[in-house]
Amino acid sequence: MAGETTQYTYGTPVVAGIAHGEVAWVQRPQTPAEYAPAIEESEREAEYQRFEAATEEVSKRLMERAQNMVGSASDVLFMTSQMVVDKSWRQEAKKHITGEGTPAVQATVRATEKFVELFKQAGGLMAERVTDLKDIRDRVIAQLQGEPEPGIPTLEKAVILFADDLAPADTAGLDPTKVLAIATILGGPTSHTSIIARQLGIPCIVAARELGSIEGGTGVLLDGGTGRIELNPDEDIAKAAVEADAKRREAAKSWVGPGKTKDGEEIPLLANVQDGKGAQKASQSQAEGIGLFRTELCFLGVSQEPSVEEQVQVYRPVLDAFAGRKVVVRTLDAGSDKPVDWASVPDEENPALGVRGLRTSGIAPNQLPNQLDAIASANEGSEADVWVMAPMVSTVAEARWFAQLARERGLVAGIMVEVPSAAILAPLFLPEVDFVSIGTNDLTQYTMAADRMNPNLATYTDPWQPAVLALISYTAKTGKTQGKPVGVCGEAAADPLLACVLHGMGVTSLSMAASAIGAVGAQLSSVTGEQCRQAAEQVLKADSADAARYAARKVLEA
Ligand code: PEP
Ligand code: MG
Repeated sequence: MAGETTQYTYGTPVVAGIAHGEVAWVQRPQTPAEYAPAIEESEREAEYQRFEAATEEVSKRLMERAQNMVGSASDVLFMTSQMVVDKSWRQEAKKHITGEGTPAVQATVRATEKFVELFKQAGGLMAERVTDLKDIRDRVIAQLQGEPEPGIPTLEKAVILFADDLAPADTAGLDPTKVLAIATILGGPTSHTSIIARQLGIPCIVAARELGSIEGGTGVLLDGGTGRIELNPDEDIAKAAVEADAKRREAAKSWVGPGKTKDGEEIPLLANVQDGKGAQKASQSQAEGIGLFRTELCFLGVSQEPSVEEQVQVYRPVLDAFAGRKVVVRTLDAGSDKPVDWASVPDEENPALGVRGLRTSGIAPNQLPNQLDAIASANEGSEADVWVMAPMVSTVAEARWFAQLARERGLVAGIMVEVPSAAILAPLFLPEVDFVSIGTNDLTQYTMAADRMNPNLATYTDPWQPAVLALISYTAKTGKTQGKPVGVCGEAAADPLLACVLHGMGVTSLSMAASAIGAVGAQLSSVTGEQCRQAAEQVLKADSADAARYAARKVLEA
């Protein structure tokens, strides 16, 4: 275990991978004085022209960089280059400069403040664009003051980059050979930092609140798979961890299924998909089937319930992509973070604990029978082995009712175990259904009473939390006793180490993003079934998520 002097800090893991190196901070520009003497009326128009020229120049530079990049890096830069010359933003600055005589630098600050407020009020993805706005402000001010553009320092050697939050222009210009990993104090899993880091395959952690206390030049070992940053690590141990990680990445690339341990114990590795296109792509991976088809994601922007026939058209391509293989279709998981117009209660006080998943049957009683009709109809003539399951089941009566509706239509019926009540009473839930699938994202959220969307709670929303592991283990054990399949389809299944633990607990299939299958398959193929069972036994004795991870590592990476 770590020595007494070892220090750690944590954030939300975004891109897996281990890196060791020295910290380099991205410097933000100095904030200009809030007030400056008003400009003479006769000079105001010229001052505005100076502002406009600065925005044109910044936009041009961003555009040039966008043209030299590909994929989402280029898209992000292009979008930012357009924001600099946004009409409403420039209009707001003009109002301050020509109307009030505010100098261009201060007018830039004020115009940005207004839009930052507007974006924050809009919330969600708009709020995550606040960093982009502030980046534009800083670049325009630097241009106005004749200073070099702010951003990433010139890197002489490969470093681990720390920042408050990376602006899109920073991340898009990153040289992956010089940046071993990224960690930011702010940001979220969908912020630009995350999008670009994912694209470039740079290990990344966001929302690491304590990062500010770590000085540039400090040696750190960063684990983008767990969100942990270790300060001043032992050089030999860090080097070994980086080498082992590089080997793992290579093994993941070349791994070929089916999923099994070194000594041949099988555990099907399935894909999580959200539409026909995703299923088509997953069918070209090593996925042995689909373990979670999130049907609600097909209807997020749709204002009215689609007809049964329309739904059949949506489901059929998913089944066709996996002809001859298993496809687990989840019925609508509307509500909370996935509002669907026709089956969600708007403005709930506490939506994660509100009318979501199977509970929406209370407000839209025809929705579930219609959806099951559509799934049954898509199943007819399809060659896939179709199973159907309900999300957010919390009482035995709900499980019984759902299973009856599904079986009446000739469908194999299951439920998700996402609410602790379903795990705690697994012996009573399992006889009602043909299978269960553990949704570890929500099971963790509800067991730890921690909002899975909140970056401040990342240490709680960790599936390695012992209470969560205990519930998974109990459910898997009960499934084994009753001869019923118990799968896992939450993010936990995509963690190679945890996947081995889950197999050791008796989980019968693992479903994850298709891109994660190689790493999980490779890890499983490197250990024996007995090692997995030993790891499962050891993690259940741990009193913290970290201790559980360490216990598993000790057995599985021996
Ligand atoms: C889960 O909760 O683990 C799950 C797979 O469902 P979702 O992430 O769609 O809520
Ligand atoms: Mg869920």
